[in-house]
Amino acid sequence: MKSSDTRPIAFLDLAAQQKRLGPALRQRLDTVLAHCRFVMGPEVEELEGRLAQWCGARECVGVSSGTDALQIVMMAEGIGRGDAVFLPAFTYTATAEVPLVLGATPVFVDVDPDTFQIDPDHLRARIRAVRAQGTLRPRAIVGVDLFGQPAPWAALRAIAEEEGLFLLSDCAQSFGAVQAGQPLGREATATTLSFFPSKPLGGYGDGGAILTDDPERAALYRSLRTHGEGTTRYEVLRTGMNGRLDTLQAAVLLAKLDGFQAELDRREAIACAYDSGLAGSVQVPVRVPDSRSAWAIYAILLKDTAERTALQDRLKVQGVPSAIYYPLPLHWQPAYRPHHDGTTLPVSEDLAGRILALPIHPELTDEDVARVIAAVRG
Ligand SMILES: *Cc1c(COP(=O)(O)O)cnc(C)c1O
Repeated sequence: MKSSDTRPIAFLDLAAQQKRLGPALRQRLDTVLAHCRFVMGPEVEELEGRLAQWCGARECVGVSSGTDALQIVMMAEGIGRGDAVFLPAFTYTATAEVPLVLGATPVFVDVDPDTFQIDPDHLRARIRAVRAQGTLRPRAIVGVDLFGQPAPWAALRAIAEEEGLFLLSDCAQSFGAVQAGQPLGREATATTLSFFPSKPLGGYGDGGAILTDDPERAALYRSLRTHGEGTTRYEVLRTGMNGRLDTLQAAVLLAKLDGFQAELDRREAIACAYDSGLAGSVQVPVRVPDSRSAWAIYAILLKDTAERTALQDRLKVQGVPSAIYYPLPLHWQPAYRPHHDGTTLPVSEDLAGRILALPIHPELTDEDVARVIAAVRG
């Protein structure tokens, strides 16, 4: 079926989303404009409470971005020079950037070819190799819940415990996902979220949060997000940062949280439609067992780069957007290559050459979804 409709479909439609949220969003914003507490206003604490409640975490700390969330968590553990932080090579740049900013070294681990999540067997091998080499001190593992699906948490927890490493969940893409009936957010000692507009729970600017069940760590995160302050405002206990979540962003997110479950359900329905419509013509995403994705990204696999380029060109003509997450594995990025020990990471290297993301957001109509399927099938 070739559709004659070639009007552009949006990869992300924030204007339509705003319209759907309607007066609830305006009301939230007007409240902030009226009370003028733009920094650490009451909406921040209200949002923290709602996010903690969503996943059953004891504490939530709103921060300025997903990247700053990672940085605050690693600062709290004192991660720095000489430390090795193990993380997947197939993820967004921020995961690797933060250890480097703190003077630590990211150690890249390959991923599973089906789920694209960090490979626990390769992680064990990488930790062994770093210990054998003897120059870096293994300190932490960052499990990234990639594309909306959970990382292999049971295995990661076992490894972290055996090796005495701090375990952090970079859940920037996957808040709203569920595993074994439990919403993600309590898989590691600390979980970081991002509210970048394109994430499943996205604000209208930068924002993030840290979830933890440990009140002492939460207190430390709160201090670090406000310049390391103590019990009084101008007491500086430690080197911190300006890492607070804006009140206006918290207000936007509160308005969005009310309809978040419905959005997640719509994303799941679109994913199922793609699965059945595309099976046989391209490789559709493999689901992590006993889980439901937050569907930040719906990624298909083509045979090779040439086939991907041809498909992207064909989609473009028909008004169907697509995107590549990620065109380079992190150990091949110019900025990170000098910090990499040269190990080949064949799965990450292969995926980067033939992965392609199709639009998946709650604003897509059934007609849009049918057009995407028809265009991909050619
Ligand atoms: C988006 C993202 C981040 C960074 O979040 P920001 O809010 O953009 O700073 C970190 N890790 C992953 C995996 C992400 O997708």
